[in-house]
Amino acid sequence: MAVQELLNKFHDIAANPGKQMEAYLKAGKRVVLCAPVYTPEEIVHAMGAVPMGAWGADTELQLSKKYFPAFICSIMQSILELGIKGTYDGASAIIIPSLCDSLKCLGENWKYAVPDITFIPMVHPQNRAGEAGRAFTKAGYQRVIKTLEKLFATTYDDAALWGSIRIYNEHNAVMREVSALLAEHPEISACARSDIFKSAMFMLKEEHTALVKDLIEALKRSPAGETKVKVLISGIIADSHSLNSIFDDLGIQIVADDVAAQSRQYRTDAPEAETALDSLVLKFSGMGNCSLLFDVDKKRADLIVKTAQETGARGVIVILTKFCDPEEFDYVIIKSRCEEAGLPVTLVEVDRQMVNYEQARTIIETFKDMI
Ligand code: SF4
Repeated sequence: MAVQELLNKFHDIAANPGKQMEAYLKAGKRVVLCAPVYTPEEIVHAMGAVPMGAWGADTELQLSKKYFPAFICSIMQSILELGIKGTYDGASAIIIPSLCDSLKCLGENWKYAVPDITFIPMVHPQNRAGEAGRAFTKAGYQRVIKTLEKLFATTYDDAALWGSIRIYNEHNAVMREVSALLAEHPEISACARSDIFKSAMFMLKEEHTALVKDLIEALKRSPAGETKVKVLISGIIADSHSLNSIFDDLGIQIVADDVAAQSRQYRTDAPEAETALDSLVLKFSGMGNCSLLFDVDKKRADLIVKTAQETGARGVIVILTKFCDPEEFDYVIIKSRCEEAGLPVTLVEVDRQMVNYEQARTIIETFKDMI
């Protein structure tokens, strides 16, 4: 398949998650919604259901306002909004981790606002690398398994989880590969890059892997386009078409990202272990470089600098989700480490309710002129 044909497919899936969900339900599959971040999708997959990303959508918030104050992040407000409006109808359950304070509120509100879709909490430990942290994570996963067993009247099988872990590790690998390859192809727009990552949320990972592999092959056969101004982006989400269009209009190429909804989730594989569940626990305990994962040294900022230098990014654009405390705290450190390294950095605030991106355009345009 030609590159453009594949990009059209990614776009269609990224832009129509409802269509994807309907097709899975029609095929007799169960769907379990996975809220951000680091939800143990492999468990859902191993128990025969489709893990479907639920990171909200760019939409006007009305009904969720009954449950949340205005000054809370719009990602989880919009998840609740979509839940109340029935967008997720047909899903069997939603797993909501509680890695930030806002997500804790989402779970509790979900129980009352959307009673027909079972809320499954997943409580991760912040001190995740030690023995106690690993035991805590394992207990959390076992609670998720128990709820799914009850819901689906089925029994958990560790061998099936090994199968799912292999599928997820392979998907991680192809996502890392395509991200590196896209950096060599400036002709692929920021909008298209976003679609490639976003579509992964709404597909079974084995299906997404196959599509990404086709794209990798097609890109390898395709000549690279003209050079653009290279940047690295960082944040929780960066899927807004309006925002990505600004990069494209201004001739800016995203050569790497530190975005939670994009590359952050593909950095760590599940390693070999005694059981598949232990392997999944080790995966989480081995994760880092994220505002939601406790790290006293804030090595995330160093990784951003290193990745920018390795990919030739001339600057870093932090896409800050309004009212996201974990990201706001990290920005100060990111800014100072980037400046120490002589790397220009700027900040653009975004919101799932935003319709006017002109302020963002002015900031990005000025930044481009500077670098
Ligand atoms: S964007 Fe920030 S505040 Fe909102 S759910 Fe994610 S980490 Fe929490």
